[in-house]
Amino acid sequence: MLTIAISKGRILKDALPLLAEAGIEPSEDLGKTRKLIVSSKKGDVNLVIIRATDVPTFVEYGAADVGISGKDVLVEHNSDSLYEMLDLQLAKCRLMTAVIKGCELPAGKIRVATKYVSLARQYFAKKGRQVEIIKLYGSMELAPIVGLADCIVDLVDTGSTLEANNMEPQDLIMQISSRLVVNKASMKMKHEEIKELVKQLQVAVDKRC
Ligand code: AMP
Repeated sequence: MLTIAISKGRILKDALPLLAEAGIEPSEDLGKTRKLIVSSKKGDVNLVIIRATDVPTFVEYGAADVGISGKDVLVEHNSDSLYEMLDLQLAKCRLMTAVIKGCELPAGKIRVATKYVSLARQYFAKKGRQVEIIKLYGSMELAPIVGLADCIVDLVDTGSTLEANNMEPQDLIMQISSRLVVNKASMKMKHEEIKELVKQLQVAVDKRC
């Protein structure tokens, strides 16, 4: 039995067809059920549906053998206790800085609103800019509009969320996609099952590229 941790939303929507190609189909409609653990049709896999930021934690502690997580979340989580096995090439986007349209960042210390506290701190440290990081859990785009921050660090896909809030992307910090991560102990104890899953997912990913 394998347990796979995955988050609702963009990653789940993109990952389900890929998992299906690897022979893993949930036994119920994940869009409708309120269950947090859902078995697969073949019965050899359970899916646990959790918050995106919790996926690396579940995998690290062995509550899930395998997880599907955005590179943004993995880098921010910063753990060497799990293996990153595969770039699934899903939920692709960019981690960027963004400002109100036409606005230059002021000289000196700037305020940055983000949920990616470590990533943002590292990025601005490399650029030699002094920053005060303001941790937010959502609606980052609001921060510069209401004067809470000079800029934000957030994921950008089509750019329409920034556009709708009169903001524009500035610097690219990192290209993001979803990765398959594996618990280190599971890798030893369930080697054959995990090897087979990785192989099948690799085939499914290659078919799309
Ligand atoms: P967009 O308007 O298409 O640029 O999407 C930006 C919004 O969607 C922001 O609120 C992002 O945090 C979120 N977003 C974009 N891509 C992803 C992704 N791959 N995973 C999670 N959230 C994302």
